[in-house]
Amino acid sequence: MRVMVLGGGVVGVTTAYQLLKDGHEVVLIERRSGVAEETSWGNAGMIAPGHSFVWSSPRAPMILLKSLVLKDQALRFRPSADPRLWSWSLKFLAQCTAERARTNTLRKHQLCLYSQRLLHETLADAEIDYDRNTRGILYFYRSEERLAAGVKHMQLLSDDGQETQVLDRDAVIRVEPSLAAARDKVAGGIYCPTDETGDCNKFTRALAAECIKRGAEFHLGMEILRIDADGDAILGVETSKGRLTADAYVLALGNHAPIFARQLGVSLPVYPIKGYSLTIPVGNHAAPPTVASVDEDNLVAISSFGDRVRVTATAEFAGYDTSHKPQDFDFMLGVVRDLYPDGADFERAEGWAGLRPMTPEGTPRFGRKKHRNLWFNSGHGHMGWTMSHAAARVTADLIGGKPTEIPLDGMMM
Ligand SMILES: Cc1cc2nc3c(=O)[nH]c(=O)nc-3n(C[C@H](O)[C@H](O)[C@H](O)COP(=O)(O)OP(=O)(O)OC[C@H]3O[C@@H](n4cnc5c(N)ncnc54)[C@H](O)[C@@H]3O)c2cc1C
Repeated sequence: MRVMVLGGGVVGVTTAYQLLKDGHEVVLIERRSGVAEETSWGNAGMIAPGHSFVWSSPRAPMILLKSLVLKDQALRFRPSADPRLWSWSLKFLAQCTAERARTNTLRKHQLCLYSQRLLHETLADAEIDYDRNTRGILYFYRSEERLAAGVKHMQLLSDDGQETQVLDRDAVIRVEPSLAAARDKVAGGIYCPTDETGDCNKFTRALAAECIKRGAEFHLGMEILRIDADGDAILGVETSKGRLTADAYVLALGNHAPIFARQLGVSLPVYPIKGYSLTIPVGNHAAPPTVASVDEDNLVAISSFGDRVRVTATAEFAGYDTSHKPQDFDFMLGVVRDLYPDGADFERAEGWAGLRPMTPEGTPRFGRKKHRNLWFNSGHGHMGWTMSHAAARVTADLIGGKPTEIPLDGMMM
């Protein structure tokens, strides 16, 4: 079958790869001059089943409410007139019960574990250099109370097969000696030794090259203008460089998927949640981060990819705006400097902002809706790099009419 993948982020490219493995003829369309140049560019790089907790939790409504009045550093909710924001927010609030949060988190965790397994299969199958770091991820807390609450919270994932170790302050420093200068700021942490990191952009570029080597047709610098439908069938895609057709189509347009879905009369509850990141060269510094970590009190994530450190933070409701100004990074830069004073050339930090394509449930959407040959692989939110491999595999299985390896309850269109 000739399958056209719409969008060349990590989700689109992993989908192209899995479809090729099944013997399909694959065409991918991406408007940028390269793959992974939007949300898949500057993320924290964490392959983190240990971070599967969904954002729609019983604590979320209060955090959102507080963010209206307080100048919170991690979450910025600014009401706008955009009706899509209100409709999405109502759906998000409906998911904020303890029971819904538990169910959604466990579904997401299973998807993440499966995805990590598939990533390892891909790495065994294709030579891909993406500055991988397999030293685990450390989720650390600044007070004993917060650590105790974190340990209780993590029990859900531990019971679901996540390997976890609770560490006191000394053990944290043993796992990450580069935190020694900030010893007094850390009470302890939860270490997930099987979580890992790597540069998502570099991975996606290398996987795209592998797909092309295996016969895929990649159209870069080609903008999709319209998806043409007649009744229950997609007939073709109108692009900036002409019309293209295929037997089946996969919507992997990240934050832009709901815009094209709406034009086709399909509601896809995906809303962009803005995040910021810094990429900082290590330079000649003696104590860069060696293990990826999340400062759970400040909600700042820190990874290192080869010779650079990546720091990410903030969830902001700002529509499709990806602009940023120096002040947006002050807080996260302060946190990383404080934790790793000899960790990187902080003066050379480069800022970036991207949009997480979030669903209210925190899990992606798969399958078809109105059209028999249009498949959704959309809404991977704050964990799309982690979930992309499984999301690609289940999409290929659904297109091929095969049973999926994991249940997709609550994730179908
Ligand atoms: C600050 C931050 C930190 C994050 N950290 C992590 C992390 O540590 N771990 C993790 O798992 N996830 C993380 N994420 C989430 C992850 O980056 C996303 O879930 C993932 O990149 C989404 O991939 P995507 O392919 O769906 O979207 P995108 O990468 O945005 O790809 C969509 C593509 O569609 C293209 N496109 C759009 N419209 C058109 C059109 N009209 N014509 C042609 N092409 C079009 C775009 O150019 C784009 O390349 C983070 C996100 C942010 C913002």
